[in-house]
Amino acid sequence: MTRNPQVLFVASEAMPFVKTGGLADVAYALPKTLASLGVDVRVMLPRHAKIKQGYSDKLKTIATTTIALGWRSKYLGLQKMKLEGITYYFIDNEDYFGDAVYRGGDAENEQYLFFCKAVCEALALIDFDPDILHLNDWHTGMIPFLLKTQYAGRLKKDIRTLFTIHNIEFQGKMGFEVMQECLDVPEHYYTPEFIEAGGCANMMKAALVFADRISTVSRNYAYELMNGWFGKGLEGILSARRHEVCGIVNGIDTDTFDPQTDPSIAAHFSASDTTNKRSCKKALRDEFMLSTKLTTPILSMVSRLTEQKGMALVQHVLEELLCEDVAFILLGAGDAKYEDFFNYLAAKYPGRAGIFIGYNEDLAHRIYAGSDFLLMPSEFEPCGLSQMIAQRYGTLPIVRETGGLVDTVVPYNVYTGEGTGFAFSTFNAHDMLEAAKKALAVYRNKPVLRKLRKNAMLTDNGFLKSAGQYEALYKSMM
Ligand code: ADP
Repeated sequence: MTRNPQVLFVASEAMPFVKTGGLADVAYALPKTLASLGVDVRVMLPRHAKIKQGYSDKLKTIATTTIALGWRSKYLGLQKMKLEGITYYFIDNEDYFGDAVYRGGDAENEQYLFFCKAVCEALALIDFDPDILHLNDWHTGMIPFLLKTQYAGRLKKDIRTLFTIHNIEFQGKMGFEVMQECLDVPEHYYTPEFIEAGGCANMMKAALVFADRISTVSRNYAYELMNGWFGKGLEGILSARRHEVCGIVNGIDTDTFDPQTDPSIAAHFSASDTTNKRSCKKALRDEFMLSTKLTTPILSMVSRLTEQKGMALVQHVLEELLCEDVAFILLGAGDAKYEDFFNYLAAKYPGRAGIFIGYNEDLAHRIYAGSDFLLMPSEFEPCGLSQMIAQRYGTLPIVRETGGLVDTVVPYNVYTGEGTGFAFSTFNAHDMLEAAKKALAVYRNKPVLRKLRKNAMLTDNGFLKSAGQYEALYKSMM
């Protein structure tokens, strides 16, 4: 029998410490679920400023040293704490992680080049001997390269690497001199065969070349990534390694997002009794000072305001949609042009459009619980979590058929009555508008609405199934 692998899960952010997007949700829920299956999994993160402030009394320093980052001599502290049964290790360096989680530009590249080197150094300093490093997104991209080159033969054992692509849009691109200067990368690696892509040194490319296995966060996105447009320049290496690439659909943490116990929402409800969803809707209406009737459907968005999320479509037809009997709520932050648009909308449609520009976890829960529909017209979507959270709260997603949205939303079929939401396929504003109008028509047909809500709430969007697939994948790598 194969013994259970020991896994070190490495990411740039994780709930409940720091969150800027879905990666943090996954970096919390997946290790927790793997541990429940008996996998010895621990997590390594940068010790961001917010973690220092929030957990200083719980963090225990286990090692301090200095490491070379090119010509620089840099402090490396290793801290440790346990939370909900999981051991977390933190890479401490005030220069790199004392302020913003992501600094942007070359400052951000240097933050995470340091992180990659620090993780490799930390392997000899921690009280854990992983068989597998599970690496996530470009911030960890140089680790497989370092392990296969500069650290080869220097560690106690041959550590295998799994690299998971959460979003290929962000790749960690930089001038080769930046990478070379920090990590002493020999010039002969700066070719399309290794770490060069599109005229830049590319951390994600390095991971795709040097990692033992590659995964991404939905089956459909794994397939899409081999295609030119979705692959964002890395489709070649992904196609070449297609037999070592797999798609495992993300899940959500069903304890954090549970309408029966959620402390952030006005009243609790379940799939078998959704009566209190009305109380959540009423509270949400009051919070956003909507003047629409309680019977008017609320269509919401909880999203980064970027092109990826289909904001161009929303901007194009939202005012047309507001001619219908519907209220609109948005919680999000991002590109200035979209923030401006939604502020304009709030000013033009008081009582019909409720807008909160910013980031607010509790409010997100209240929106998921109190809305009737969640709009998610993404241009591309590796997996997407918002549509799964919405379903858990009986809020029907309206999505574009791309990436993980295809794997996680069953579009309403008028003939069979099946469905957990609504979908449209072409990235076109009026197709989205039609899908939204179809949803509003279903809203007026109460028996169908109740059925779809129930289907959505009973959908198994937890991490258990996927964690089992990761466990099998780890075992296959040993
Ligand atoms: P992505 O990671 O691409 O931003 P996902 O759908 O995978 O998109 O995950 C987004 C996560 O971040 C969800 O948990 C969502 O509820 C949350 N989120 C997005 N924007 C906000 C916001 N402005 N305030 C609070 N939570 C947000």
